Amino acid sequence: MAFSQTLVQELANQLTGTKQVVIVTHPQPDGDALGSSLGWKKFLEKKGHQVSFISPTDYTKNLSWIPGTDTTMVYDTDMGKKLCNAKLDAADLIFCLDFNSFSRIEELGEAVKKATGYKVMIDHHQQPDSFADLMFSDTSYCATAEMVYDIVAGLSETDLMDEEIALCLYVGLATDNGFFQFNNATPNAFRVAAALVQKGVKPDFVSEKINNVFRETRLRFFGYCLHEKLKLVKGGKVAYMMLTKEEIKKFNLQSGDSEGLVNYPFKIDGVMVSAYFSEEPDKIKVSFRSRGSVDVNTFARTYFEGGGHRNAAGGKSLIGVEKTEKKFLKAINDLKI
Ligand code: 5GP
Ligand code: MN
Repeated sequence: MAFSQTLVQELANQLTGTKQVVIVTHPQPDGDALGSSLGWKKFLEKKGHQVSFISPTDYTKNLSWIPGTDTTMVYDTDMGKKLCNAKLDAADLIFCLDFNSFSRIEELGEAVKKATGYKVMIDHHQQPDSFADLMFSDTSYCATAEMVYDIVAGLSETDLMDEEIALCLYVGLATDNGFFQFNNATPNAFRVAAALVQKGVKPDFVSEKINNVFRETRLRFFGYCLHEKLKLVKGGKVAYMMLTKEEIKKFNLQSGDSEGLVNYPFKIDGVMVSAYFSEEPDKIKVSFRSRGSVDVNTFARTYFEGGGHRNAAGGKSLIGVEKTEKKFLKAINDLKI
C-alpha cells in the first residue's frame, strides 16, 4: 500500500526548511497513539524540525519504556495547558495522529481548532471529520504507526529511520493488531513489520514489554473480573464486564491496567461481542470488541458518543453504572449478531 504521490508531495512541500511542529494524539494514549507520535516526532527532528508532542492525558506507566515518552506535554493542569497552548499558537504545522475528530480530544480540540498552523491528519479510524488541510486517512491500515512508515517511505527517507524510530512504530503496529492475530494483520502490516525488524527491532522484546510486565495486582484484577464480573447475555453471544470506581480502587490500578481485558471473553466459543465498562470519576469509559461483520464502531457512535473501527471501538457514558448497564442491554438488541 502507498499514499498518492500528490498527497506525499504536498506534505513534502510543507516540510521544507525548519518548522515549528506540534503532534497531538488522543486521550489515554495507547501503544499506537504513543508509538506513531513518538516515531514521527523523532523522524521530523532528524529532518531538522522543532517538534513538541501533546497528549490530552498522561501516558500510562506501562508504556513509559517507549523511547521519547518523557518528552510528552500533557494538556491537563493549568500550567500544562498554558505551555501546550503556547506551542500550538507558534506551530507552523500541527499533526493529528490516531484520532479523526476534535471531539475525541475534548478541550484540547478547541485549542487545536483555534491554532492557525497547517493541519495534517494521519489516522486509520472510520468516518473522519474533515478538519485538516491534508488528510492521510485510510481504514485499510491496521495502525497509525503503519501509515507513518508508509509516509516516510513515500518521502523516500527510510534511510533516516533508526532503530529507535523503528521501535516506536513497531509498538504501534503490533499493539493495534494484537501482535498480528486480528483481521487487520494485512500483507502490508507484515511488510512494514519486516522493514522495522530489519532496522533492528526485536519482536520478542516488544512482546515481553507489552504482554508480560503485569504487576501482581493487575493479573489478580483480571482474575476477579473474569470470575466475578463477566456476564454473558444474548445466548452467550455478548459478554460484558462492568467495573465500579470502588472495585478499581481496591486493586490499586494504574491507568492502562485494564488494557487487553476486553479481549479475554473471546476465549469462550460463540462470543461475538465483548464490552468492558469502567467507572472513572467523571464518566464511564467503554471498550467494545467484536468478531467478523458485527459492527461495534456504529454501535459506539450511536449509543456511547464514541467510535473507532468495526471490530474495536470505544466510547463513554455519563449516566452512572446502573443506567449504563440498562442502556447497553437494551441497545444490544439492535446489533446484528
Ligand atoms: P480501546 O477500547 O482500546 O480504548 O479503543 C478501541 C478503539 O476505539 C481505538 O481505536 C480507539 O482509538 C477507539 N476509541 C476508544 N475510545 C473512543 C472514544 O471515546 N471515541 C472514539 N471516537 N473512539 C474511541
Ligand atoms: Mn491506532
